[in-house]
Amino acid sequence: MNRRSFLYQSALASSLPMLSRPAWFSSLFAAYEMRALRGNVGVFTESGGTIAWYVTGKHIVVVDTQFPDPAAHVISEIKKMQDHPFDLLINTHHHGDHTSGNITFKGLAPKLVAHENSKANQQRVAEDRGNMDQQWLPTETFSTAWETQMGDEFIQLHYFGPAHTDGDAMIHFTEANVVHMGDLVFNRRFPYIDKSAGASISNWIQVLDNALNTFDRNTLFVFGHSGEGYDITGDAEDLQAMQNYLSSLLNFMEKEIAAGKSKEEIANATQIPGAPEWKGDGIGRSIDAAWIELVEKK
Ligand SMILES: [Zn+2]
Ligand SMILES: [Zn+2]
Repeated sequence: MNRRSFLYQSALASSLPMLSRPAWFSSLFAAYEMRALRGNVGVFTESGGTIAWYVTGKHIVVVDTQFPDPAAHVISEIKKMQDHPFDLLINTHHHGDHTSGNITFKGLAPKLVAHENSKANQQRVAEDRGNMDQQWLPTETFSTAWETQMGDEFIQLHYFGPAHTDGDAMIHFTEANVVHMGDLVFNRRFPYIDKSAGASISNWIQVLDNALNTFDRNTLFVFGHSGEGYDITGDAEDLQAMQNYLSSLLNFMEKEIAAGKSKEEIANATQIPGAPEWKGDGIGRSIDAAWIELVEKK
């Protein structure tokens, strides 16, 4: 969080209780952060999954879009840096906190690339919710790998199978050596594990192995979400820590299930043994997902 957004949030927290904040107040004091990382690649955070951007004198690429308001904010921040046409939008996966702002890029970015399952999930969820008119669906999809060149930079998309969903892409800016991991890493925060969209905890551990074998010690990783006091960027050790969380979750659940406990009894846990750094709301989502995987075998 930069100084400006920190100050806005402190002012908000001290001056008005949550419920009495009028809408104009939060829009006037929008708290977002635009942060350069390296090699023309940076991140934007406001609400929802982290956005990454690549901006040079000739090219503009954006990864993920949060929601319409944050999407408008990142677009105006990028236009302050370079005012020329956008080249490409990419989605890491279909979840609404990463794709609801796609619509704001419609007509601005000529192309939207995502994994084929990500597109199918986005379409299915929008049809279920009856809000297809608020979506901009991927215009191009891939199954295992996709690559393009933008100036001196190569952008490679990798897919290693089901994990957080069944359509999680890793986006590698190879020259900057920055990878957007989407929600494949919740940095020290209980993850969402979307069984309704084909998630697999055991394969997620494998997918992170593939990432560790594909990228290197100098790779800078961008994460969809992080816990209190942890950053949305990190290194290979943070991927290993996420793997450790997932395997600790499966070990814990296997032991509890073998001891004859019900899902409700297991859900009394406040942390996963072996991974105490994982905190926040939502341990129940991990327990539910592991139960589906281990007991219902889905
Ligand atoms: Zn997310
Ligand atoms: Zn997600």
